[in-house]
Amino acid sequence: MFIGNHLSSSKGFENMGKEALKLGANTFAFFTRNPRGGAAKAIDEEDAKKLLKLMEDNNFGKLVAHAPYTMNVCAAKEDIRKFSWNVLNEDLQRMEYLPNNYYNFHPGSHVGQGADAAIPVIAEAVNDALKPEYTTTVLLETMAGKGSEVGRSFEELRAILDLIKLPDKVGVCFDTCHVWDGGYDIVNDLDGVLQEFDRVIGLDRLKAVHFNDSMNVCGSHKDRHQKIGEGEIGLEALKAVATHPLLKDKPFILETPNDDEGYKKEIALVRSFG
Ligand code: FE
Ligand code: FE
Ligand code: ZN
Repeated sequence: MFIGNHLSSSKGFENMGKEALKLGANTFAFFTRNPRGGAAKAIDEEDAKKLLKLMEDNNFGKLVAHAPYTMNVCAAKEDIRKFSWNVLNEDLQRMEYLPNNYYNFHPGSHVGQGADAAIPVIAEAVNDALKPEYTTTVLLETMAGKGSEVGRSFEELRAILDLIKLPDKVGVCFDTCHVWDGGYDIVNDLDGVLQEFDRVIGLDRLKAVHFNDSMNVCGSHKDRHQKIGEGEIGLEALKAVATHPLLKDKPFILETPNDDEGYKKEIALVRSFG
C-alpha cells in the first residue's frame, strides 16, 4: 500500500522524500506554498530530480500535493479570486517539475453566492490553468460542508467535473473525515457509499484518499480530524476503508493531529491493516 502524511516543503523536495522514508512512508503530501498563502519559492530543478530518483528507488506511490488553504477560485471578491486563479496556474506549471503526480485542492467556498453560481467558476478556473501537455492529475477534494464549502456532496463534485474540458486530467480525492462529516455513513455502509460515489461520479475518478478519523458524528459538517481509531469513525471502519479492494491501491495521506513520532506509529498501524 501507499501511505504517508503531510510534510513541510520548506526543507526542499529530496529532504521530504528522506523524511517520508524515516517515517516508514512511501508517498506524502506537501503544500505547494505556505498553506496560509503568499509567494512560492523558486523551484530547484536538481532537488526535484533527486526526489524523483528517491521515489523510483523506493517504489513510492504518487504524491498528493495540496493547494494552499487561502486559494478560493470561486471567491466572490475579485482580488481573492484573481489571486487564487494565479496560484492555481502557477502551481500546475510548477508541478511539471515532478511529473505524473496529483495536485489536490478544495473546490472553494461560495460565501453567499450559492453553489450553483460557484460551480461553473471553479470549472472555469481549472480549464484556464490546466494545459493538454500537463502530466499532473488535478483532484477535487470531497468537503465536509462546513460554512459555504462547495464539494459537500458527490453531486456537487460531479457538477464541476461535467464542465471540465480535459476530464482525463481531473479526479477526486476522497477524504474520510470530510465524507463522514458530509453525511455519508462509511461506518455502517461503506459499500453503499462507494456505490453511490460510483453512480454519481464514477469510481475511476477516485484517485487518492485523505485518511482521517473524525471528532464528530456523521453529517455534522464540522471538519475536525482525529487520530486513526480515536474518533467517531473508529478503527474497524477505517481498517475496512484501507483494505477495501476498490481503495487499497490508492495513495493514502494521513492528516491527523500527530507529531512525527505519532505519524510513524500511525503509518505502522495502517500498514498492519493489510
Ligand atoms: Fe484538504
Ligand atoms: Fe483532506
Ligand atoms: Zn479537513
